[in-house]
Amino acid sequence: MFIDGFGSMVFSEKVMKERLSRDAFDRLMKVRNEGSPMDRSLADEVAAAMKDWAVENGATHFTHWFQPMTGSTAEKHDAFLDRDKDDNPILELSGKTLIKGEADASSFPSGGIRETFEARGYTQWDPTSDAFVREDTLCIPTSFGSFDGAVLDKKTPLLRSLEVLSQQAKRLLKCFGQETKYVYPSVGLEQEYFLINKEDYAKRRDLILTERTLFGAPTPKGQVLEDHYYGTIRPRVKAYMKELDEELWKVGIYSKTEHNEVAPCQHEMAPIFARANIAVDSNQLTMDIMKKVANRHGFVCLLHEKPFEGINGSGKHNNWSLTTAEGENLFKPGKEPEKTYKFLLFIAAVVKAVDDYQELLRVSVASAGNDHRLGGNEAPPAIISMYLGDKLRTIVDSIINATDLKTAYEKAAKTEKNDDRNRTSPFAFTGNKFEFRMPGSAENVSCTNYILNTAAAESLKQFADRLEKFTGKPEFESEVKKLIREELTGHERILFEGNGYSNEWVKEAKRRGLANIKSTPEAFAHYGDEKNVRLLTSHGILSAEEIKARTNIGVQKYTNITNIEARTMLIMAEKEIMPAVIKYSSEIAFGIESKQALGLDVDHELKLLEDINSHVKALGINNEKLKKALEKQPADAMKAAMNAYKKILPVMEEERCIVDELEVLVDKQSWPYPDYTDILYYV
Ligand code: ADP
Ligand code: MG
Repeated sequence: MFIDGFGSMVFSEKVMKERLSRDAFDRLMKVRNEGSPMDRSLADEVAAAMKDWAVENGATHFTHWFQPMTGSTAEKHDAFLDRDKDDNPILELSGKTLIKGEADASSFPSGGIRETFEARGYTQWDPTSDAFVREDTLCIPTSFGSFDGAVLDKKTPLLRSLEVLSQQAKRLLKCFGQETKYVYPSVGLEQEYFLINKEDYAKRRDLILTERTLFGAPTPKGQVLEDHYYGTIRPRVKAYMKELDEELWKVGIYSKTEHNEVAPCQHEMAPIFARANIAVDSNQLTMDIMKKVANRHGFVCLLHEKPFEGINGSGKHNNWSLTTAEGENLFKPGKEPEKTYKFLLFIAAVVKAVDDYQELLRVSVASAGNDHRLGGNEAPPAIISMYLGDKLRTIVDSIINATDLKTAYEKAAKTEKNDDRNRTSPFAFTGNKFEFRMPGSAENVSCTNYILNTAAAESLKQFADRLEKFTGKPEFESEVKKLIREELTGHERILFEGNGYSNEWVKEAKRRGLANIKSTPEAFAHYGDEKNVRLLTSHGILSAEEIKARTNIGVQKYTNITNIEARTMLIMAEKEIMPAVIKYSSEIAFGIESKQALGLDVDHELKLLEDINSHVKALGINNEKLKKALEKQPADAMKAAMNAYKKILPVMEEERCIVDELEVLVDKQSWPYPDYTDILYYV
């Protein structure tokens, strides 16, 4: 394996070059890179070559692989099998089938769009993302929409945003006399995950139904010794990572870095960055493969953002930069200040984008799971701010203060500090890219990236509108400087170099007027803000109706998850915890009687019994409270989500508090679940 087997299951450019005619290959590359239209003859040739290659690699079936609004991927398998005119079985994949497939849209969330659009949906081949073979199936990456043209997936807006970003970046580069065929965002996604034993998982209804522990008293150790981060990897985990790498390499994913994370049994995998749409597709596939490989090693891979209380949760850092067709990274700082106005302008564009669309970025990472993580002093707060690092900040300050840029550069060159060490910042410049650290580990980060791309495209558009008038004129340079200065000054409030986990920052951010959106429903309430709708509609990413639909889907999912969690809690409390605790306390009571008969001291047992009893009573009362909270819920989607946040979650927290205290009081043998120590510290 390794290099030889890398990408062996991918219908890659190399394979295409070998198997397609020269003309078809060239035309396909134009479709991939420049968005030129696909015609039937080309599709037929590609389909035939793809099918032959897939069959040689063990495939009997094919599937249109797509990303509906559920957040995961969907597939429907068809055999290549067909019947020819002489009634013989043949293997077939036509260009028509490659390009378009039907999928019943009514089985996927549409957020209400179905009322006005047909239920029939279709999948459409995305030629920018390579097809691949998994087990016996050729997977063809596709987008998903309704026959009336409504977007029903996560991929389409991302693909659109790439086009928009490329157009605007090209315009701005042209102002500097630079021509390039296209500009695309490069994205590197660091994926965090937990590995736990299958046996422990199987014993816990909360993990099975919600992927997180709804109860669980803290372990005495937790992560206080900080001995897990980058620590020696357990042999079983090592074997898992090895097989994971091999599986990922086969499908062409450049899995590169793997290490232990901060929390016990938490790990991370980071692939080498790729074009944004490829990176997102690969990440969806990675999450799927992670889970499947875990199963073969007696593990369950948890991608939930907060599987355990009291220890770190998992995120998915979105590293993002802009690259030209020639491979130039537009965020790579130059050495001489005079030549770096282009660089600073692109930086200013991102600063402006993040400040102007902070609420939208928050929406893009909003989920029930991630709410437990953001602001928990382990991940960025719910406030979006940017960290530029000492070097870049020195330069930016000199621009804002209109002081000498050359001196600033000299000063910046002398700053010793490593630029990317502020881990508390949600959006950090890390030398030649930006790292957005808010996305949750389970998220499909397509939304994060199309928001980021479109917001950046809007800044670039405004800059280009202004600078195009000066292109080639002597005032060009001074206009550029003026623009950079105005933008950085105007958006200085989003820049923050301090400790993002501190309480002072919460106060300071409020003073600066930055948004601090603590919950998913509150975040989604901003999706439809006028400026956000304007951004997404004016660039043709989503229609106002599609934004509404996505808002509905987001908040409904939140409500559903909260309801499932609350109901799971109730079942665990009533059917498993209460009976176990009552049984245990009865044993103590019997013990007390016999001991008293012998004239022995029973003070300790009595105290324990009283303590347990009062907790049982409190739990009973809280169960009723929780049932009540679940009983009446508003019909309106947004109101229901707010209700879940304000009325159900607090009762769930109370429930957890009582149960976790009980767990400490009750004999380990009587407790119905493996505890945190059992789960987190396996060998
Ligand atoms: P850290 O843990 O320090 O944040 P890692 O090395 O684990 O960093 O991950 C960094 C990620 O950023 C990797 O996926 C890497 O490929 C990606 N990356 C590196 N350079 C760029 C770039 N120019 N644009 C986008 N992503 C990048
Ligand atoms: Mg990182």
